[in-house]
Amino acid sequence: MRIGVPTEIKNHEYRVGLTPPSVRELVAAGHEVVLQAGAGKGIGCPDEEYVAAGARILPDAAAVFAEADMIVKVKEPQPSETAMLKKGQLLFTYLHLAPDPVQAEGLIASGCTAIAYETITDSRGGLPLLAPMSEVAGRMAIQVGAVALQKANGGRGVLLGGVPGVAPAKVVVIGGGVVGTHAARMAMGLGAEVVVLDRSLPRLRQLDEVFGGRLVTQYANIDNTEAAVLSADLVIGAVLVPGASAPKLIRRGQLSRMKPGAVIVDVAIDQGGCFETSHATTHAEPTYEVDGIVHYCVANMPGAVPRTSAFALNNATLPFTLALANKGWRKACADDAHLAAGLTVHEGHITYEAVAKDLGKPY
Ligand code: NAD
Repeated sequence: MRIGVPTEIKNHEYRVGLTPPSVRELVAAGHEVVLQAGAGKGIGCPDEEYVAAGARILPDAAAVFAEADMIVKVKEPQPSETAMLKKGQLLFTYLHLAPDPVQAEGLIASGCTAIAYETITDSRGGLPLLAPMSEVAGRMAIQVGAVALQKANGGRGVLLGGVPGVAPAKVVVIGGGVVGTHAARMAMGLGAEVVVLDRSLPRLRQLDEVFGGRLVTQYANIDNTEAAVLSADLVIGAVLVPGASAPKLIRRGQLSRMKPGAVIVDVAIDQGGCFETSHATTHAEPTYEVDGIVHYCVANMPGAVPRTSAFALNNATLPFTLALANKGWRKACADDAHLAAGLTVHEGHITYEAVAKDLGKPY
């Protein structure tokens, strides 16, 4: 199969659909890879690295879309890209189609077959192509929180790990899933005192088993959540209720009772955020202050570390990319129900029930 990789064109998107090691794997399996010139620049991989891995460089996106049987991307196709997709072509990328009628019309009109990263499942009920980005965001949350806690950035002027003779900062993580676990790990690594709250007892048991006495787990009822947040230096919002907006766990009235200069990193902002006062920010201006509390609410945190993110994403996508290339999408999906769960558009029809329902389209 001929696999095409265009340069991402969404604003501030520097990741790329295939890294050079993935290209090498696909070429070793007998496939051809065509890459738009400069597509890997944002992750520090020049064209020469791709050529060494076996790719052929094409001058522009039009050439890539014209030649490829399968397009592998990161972000949902932008209007100029959907216009280049054609019948029989396979698109493998994040789609996030439900709230995006313009993209849906474009994909329907193209006649392509689109498989979305975000709805592919695994045998444990997880979403394996979302997990790497949650890992990145969770680990990053502590990094950005530590910087926001510095006095010059509006924070309390507290060092996460303290120093000998001075107590460490208290980090409260609400939601102990993928984001929360990775945030907790980083915070513990820096020597902070860490509390994780979750509504799932099995999840808390698992965290307790893995981290033992280095971590305090608490059931996320209203009492415990409020008490933990009011005594925190840094709060990480990491809850997810599948298919729903994030629940608002902290109201504006509670902010003035928190420690002045405390920091909130609301990772769940892409689902609306779990603090009443959260609104989405960008990497250019990531923080703002409400009632003396610093808020960091960037909706695409992994975008700040595109190299790590692209390699992490490729580790998760590669087995599926290989299966699609080796077998074609029909057989690959017939053989693997988890991959088939990603099938979203086929020849002018939305094939994913929940997405069709949200868009008001037939299923
Ligand atoms: P996950 O499903 O692995 O974990 C969510 C956890 O929240 C679960 O353990 C669940 O039991 C818990 N939870 C649900 N309701 C709760 C409540 N009321 N109180 C406490 N805990 C509760 O999800 P995840 O992959 O860790 O993602 C967490 C959030 O981060 C999601 O909204 C996701 O979209 C978002 N995210 C954002 C970015 C970003 O760049 N901002 C990047 C990746 C993920």
